[in-house]
Amino acid sequence: MLNKTQFYINGTWVNSLDGRVLPVINPANEEAFATISLGGSADTMVAVAAAKAAFPSWSKTSPDERRSHLVNLLEVYKARNEEMATAISTEMGAPMDMAIRDQVGAGIGHLKAFITALEEIRFLRPLRTGLEGQDVACEAAGVAALITPWNWPMNQVVLKVGAALAAGCTMVLKPSEIAPMSGILFAEMVHEAGIPAGVFNMLNGDGAGAGSILSAHPDVDVVSFTGSTRAGILIGQAAAATIKRVSLELGGKSPNLVFADCDIEEAVRRSAKACFNNTGQSCNAGTRLLVEKSAYAQAVEVAGKAAEDTKVDLPSKSGTHIGPLVSQAQFDKVQSLIKAGIDEGATLVAGGLGRPEGLNRGWFVKPTVFADTTPDMTIIREEIFGPVLSIMSFDSEDQAIALANDTPYGLAAYIQTGNMDRARRVTPQLRAGMVQINGALRTSGSPFGGYKQSGLGREGGMWGIEEFLEIKSISGFTSN
Ligand code: NAD
Repeated sequence: MLNKTQFYINGTWVNSLDGRVLPVINPANEEAFATISLGGSADTMVAVAAAKAAFPSWSKTSPDERRSHLVNLLEVYKARNEEMATAISTEMGAPMDMAIRDQVGAGIGHLKAFITALEEIRFLRPLRTGLEGQDVACEAAGVAALITPWNWPMNQVVLKVGAALAAGCTMVLKPSEIAPMSGILFAEMVHEAGIPAGVFNMLNGDGAGAGSILSAHPDVDVVSFTGSTRAGILIGQAAAATIKRVSLELGGKSPNLVFADCDIEEAVRRSAKACFNNTGQSCNAGTRLLVEKSAYAQAVEVAGKAAEDTKVDLPSKSGTHIGPLVSQAQFDKVQSLIKAGIDEGATLVAGGLGRPEGLNRGWFVKPTVFADTTPDMTIIREEIFGPVLSIMSFDSEDQAIALANDTPYGLAAYIQTGNMDRARRVTPQLRAGMVQINGALRTSGSPFGGYKQSGLGREGGMWGIEEFLEIKSISGFTSN
């Protein structure tokens, strides 16, 4: 059993002052393999105080200095990538090949994008070219609380830590208590990269404890959160009393519009695989497949086949399979939503309740496809966060757009079409922060975030750094 109960505060590993011990469970075998501390009020106060004390000097560093710290961090991160993949795979169940390529790889991409953004961003600039004495300064906003979830642990940690470091903020990271091992390892990397003491602090804790204390702390200036809409609302409320800046990256129920003019076989297979990736635990998963009526029967068949072809197996094995869900709570939630789909009359095309054959331990579920769904069904309205694809048909482009937008969420949307005029016409009508056409990937540094109840603000590259900056209008600087 690994003992990981210490926190990284003010450049050193310290014992928890008032934490409770929590076991960390491997979702592939349901066994505890490590213990952490859930920090309490005293731990959180010390961490915030360290970040506050480090702010005056770190915020005065030049963008070049911060850039070279990020370059060092990237080198350490890359050198320890296998260790990181193992930590992620063990804590949340991502298969090793996927963990190293996608989970760890996402962190590399984000660090590179912040390094590039630091070369381009102008922290002091004239209001207009050629106008003397009217300037705009972008300054570090202060102490940041960074609260992250378990589904893409390093993607989310690096998006926040990289941006906050680049902006000149100091910070307290609280990773998910369900998947804390990668966050602990990341703290080791920050130390190895030589980031000055107090700039980056990390403690573990849960939402009711360290999470809410950070969100309400008067010395925290910015809260950046990724996770459930439920927790996002609570954080917004807790932060309101001290008027903190709040960035929220929340849930989604993203539509994928499939028009009959595309290669249905290729587009639906790719879309189903993308939905099942990471065992469906991605906020931007395209979980509502909206298909033009003339292509509907074929799309249902292709999606069903894609689910049956998706192998589920142990995360420690090499291959393109998917692993277990992260926890029993997640397993129970996904099972109850699959049951709701069946009970409410959707047609079960593939998968269904229970574990896949041969996997009796671990939070493994069957890749599942439902057809003949309707807009009022629970599986169409609620974020499932499991490998479950729900298919619905549409008659016209206008109806497809209306169905796509018929959700409180607005994170991502996907379009499959052979007609670029259609793609250009439909894209601006989709109320979503990210649109991907015909499987095109978003590059690192693109703004990530959503409309409506999917969140506030954007992460990644220049956009992500701006979340950690205050704007100062300066009148009266002259050339001498
Ligand atoms: P969660 O939102 O409860 O937890 C995410 C992070 O927020 C964790 O670090 C947690 O400790 C912290 N947290 C929880 N409540 C808090 C509070 N009141 N104040 C401050 N911090 C708080 O997510 P979960 O319970 O792990 O998962 C629940 C559901 O959330 C999932 O089923 C899924 O639908 C959704 N989810 C979405 C994302 C996403 O990327 N959008 C990520 C994880 C989970």
